[in-house]
Amino acid sequence: MDLLVVGAGLYGLTVAEQAAQSGLDVVVIDRRDHLGGNAYSSVDEATGIEVHRYGSHIFHTSNERVWQYVRRFTAFTDYRHRVFSTHAGTVYPLPINLGTLNQFFHAAMGPAAAQALIAEQAAQAGVDAESAANLEDKAVALIGRPLYEAFIRGYTHKQWQTDPRELPASVIARLPVRYTYDNRYFSDTYEGLPAHGYGPWLEAMASHPRIDVRLGVDFFDPTQPFSKDRVRGQAPIVYTGPVDRYFDHSAGPLAWRTLDLETQTLPVRDFQGTSVMNYPDLDVPYTRIHEFRHFHPEREDRHAQDRTVIAREFSRPAGPDDEPYYPVSTPADRERLRQYRELAEDEPGVHFGGRLGSYLYLDMHMAIASALQFWGQGAVTAGTGLRSARGR
Ligand code: FAD
Ligand code: UDP
Repeated sequence: MDLLVVGAGLYGLTVAEQAAQSGLDVVVIDRRDHLGGNAYSSVDEATGIEVHRYGSHIFHTSNERVWQYVRRFTAFTDYRHRVFSTHAGTVYPLPINLGTLNQFFHAAMGPAAAQALIAEQAAQAGVDAESAANLEDKAVALIGRPLYEAFIRGYTHKQWQTDPRELPASVIARLPVRYTYDNRYFSDTYEGLPAHGYGPWLEAMASHPRIDVRLGVDFFDPTQPFSKDRVRGQAPIVYTGPVDRYFDHSAGPLAWRTLDLETQTLPVRDFQGTSVMNYPDLDVPYTRIHEFRHFHPEREDRHAQDRTVIAREFSRPAGPDDEPYYPVSTPADRERLRQYRELAEDEPGVHFGGRLGSYLYLDMHMAIASALQFWGQGAVTAGTGLRSARGR
């Protein structure tokens, strides 16, 4: 073995694939029983519907290199993600756009009038978008207080259970505000779903004969041959699990959110008419409902016509035995992260990457881009170990 990759998510698989192409023998371990980390999906045999086990995953990128790279393993459909939000008994389009604004204010504004209204509301709140350092200030500066209260405050509270003034502004900057009727959720150049599902895509990435995948193997289980105790210092390691766990939480635990997805098969063909419906109101306990058949309208002839699969998504703080999904990243977390990064710099032969290893809210294309960039630095050569643990 020239390289051990801990975690078979998109970061780990990209590094493994690149290393194998370079002639290295790679072992990839994952404690789960499948490839692909949170991007994993599988077809529900009873209905023929592809179900995303860890919440809906839509691929999107404007990065040419990433787009070319991923299409070596799969074709993509021309799916375009659109999300709706049910607030106070009415359905609105997201992200906030001219349609949302006119519906919300019972108006028929054009772009200039809508922009002027929102600028006035943001000015009333006394917040400046450029200097806004936290989620609440940023959101109010972008959309004014009434829209913030309707669509953001409750949803964010349910999603993070953290004061929005403690959350980084970058979280809300993910959602565009548009003064047109364009309600595409993502603004990237390329978007789609893997034509044959996430499973075949992820398997194609791991199919190189120099890649040996071992599932159901925990890096921290000292009884197995690829454990931290046995491999550390013996072979280069790319670690994509939680960075605080690697260092036994020595600088204190980082806060993560986990999700509970309540998946149900319902005896109707179509439950909500769209793939994702958000619920920002606090009297509804879940944040959104996913209905998976709508991700693949081109497969309708293979889907059951009398049943559908939905998942209600609930969010809560991750305990020690939960899967960490989202880094919360409060100021206290960012200080702990600084300490973990110093420890990581000094950890010989180990590179920390991916969403969990870098404690960053990365989308799939960002995880892949970051892995390609790390590999492009020529960090590992057979027999020599990691030159540097940097490159996060
Ligand atoms: P992960 O996918 O988390 O993989 C890490 C792997 O490491 C896991 O499989 C884990 O089991 C393994 N591991 C951890 N600890 C150990 C250990 N001790 N031993 C062995 N293995 C271990 N991105 C998009 O682009 N579009 C979307 O629509 C989208 N939706 C998302 C929805 C949700 C609910 C979530 C949580 C994320 C979403 N993402 C989306 C982000 C996407 O999931 C990530 O960018 C991507 O999965 C990152 O890959 P990764 O390899 O860094 O991490
Ligand atoms: N958000 C919100 N209302 C919504 C959708 C999103 O307030 O209806 C906020 C919320 O804080 C969320 C952030 O915007 O965490 C980013 O949303 P996104 O849909 O990108 O989250 P993800 O799909 O990664 O869970």
